[in-house]
Amino acid sequence: MTDFDRTRGLFQIPDGVIYLDGNSLGPLPRNVPDRLAAVARDEWGGMLITGWNRAGWMELPRRVGDRVARLIGAPPDSVVMGDTLSIKVHQALAAALAMRPGRKVVLSDTGNFPSDLYIAQGLLQMLDAGHDLRLVAPDDVAGAIDDSVAAILITEVDYRTGRRHDMADLTARAHAAGALAIWDLAHSAGALPVDVAGGGADFAVGCTYKYLNGGPGAPAFIHVAPQHADQVHPALSGWLGHRQPFAFDLTYAPGEGIERMRVGTPPVLALAALDAALDVWDGVSMGDVHARSIELSQAFIAAVEADCPELTLASPREPARRGSHVSFRHPQGYAVIQALIAAGVIGDFRAPDILRFGITPLYLGTDDIARAAATLAGILRDRSWSAPRFQQRHAVT
Ligand SMILES: *Cc1c(COP(=O)(O)O)cnc(C)c1O
Repeated sequence: MTDFDRTRGLFQIPDGVIYLDGNSLGPLPRNVPDRLAAVARDEWGGMLITGWNRAGWMELPRRVGDRVARLIGAPPDSVVMGDTLSIKVHQALAAALAMRPGRKVVLSDTGNFPSDLYIAQGLLQMLDAGHDLRLVAPDDVAGAIDDSVAAILITEVDYRTGRRHDMADLTARAHAAGALAIWDLAHSAGALPVDVAGGGADFAVGCTYKYLNGGPGAPAFIHVAPQHADQVHPALSGWLGHRQPFAFDLTYAPGEGIERMRVGTPPVLALAALDAALDVWDGVSMGDVHARSIELSQAFIAAVEADCPELTLASPREPARRGSHVSFRHPQGYAVIQALIAAGVIGDFRAPDILRFGITPLYLGTDDIARAAATLAGILRDRSWSAPRFQQRHAVT
């Protein structure tokens, strides 16, 4: 059994704060600052450029990738780190489209995160080959898969509502129609037991600053199914994805397997921070995390529904159909969240009216959940959210 009292002690959470935003930016694992300082001082400072060989910097994207692979049910040597999630979406989609040259449709849904859709739009425009991005309602994805579809590009857990797609089912339907399946695990990795191998995903991508607590701007990951890894053509054909980067050939030749999904110089300090942050998963069962997340989420929903009649649940009521955050709607959602943050309970707001709460058992317990719900109820009861200072919009919501 995972000891959640122990894991809570592994994080730095400011006194008096209840943090319900780990789905957007995970908090700082306490071991990270010392590791970062040591890598900066001893490796960068002490080894200078020899650190690439002596400190294993060049292997970090693969070594950390293997640690992420374990958390998403992917086999070793199938995941590599680097860049941001938006870039990894581009890589996966470009590779998938090249594998289905006769097909012109990319299927996604209106619940997807805009960056994934923007990247798809930009890529299709650049390809200028008559592709179409077909967007349907989340519940209509299964029915929209036909033999015109080259790839489905689906985010497993909806960033607003928390609604969860059935990865194995949609992937099987895509394959039956001759299409490929690309899964975005931004709100799944570190939140739920994910099984990319069992689910048959052709490509999977995700970020590591959300539930994996890698820090602001932490590097993203890409998984390519082993049966495709030696065939895919990398659209972002950078030198570190080349078969022999230090031969400095004038012509690109893809590296072996997942190596070809590397692009340029790895962000060594960010990877060191992420590597340290992943230590918190040692001795943790993702099944336990998910079970505890459901328990805490159900308690939160029950308390909010009992005491906050103005809020309506935006997430699926059935736990199996959710990721690890729960959302409610309120017409003044932005101001309510600002008032809540001022009271020490940090959640976030997503336009147009969603109040979003990340339920992260590694560092949240039943007391936090009860206090957060009571604070929210108080703010709605006394309408303290209507103060002018809570109406002012910040750039980042
Ligand atoms: C968080 C998130 C992103 C963010 O992409 P970045 O390139 O890391 O800024 C993209 N897609 C989804 C589905 C997300 O949840």
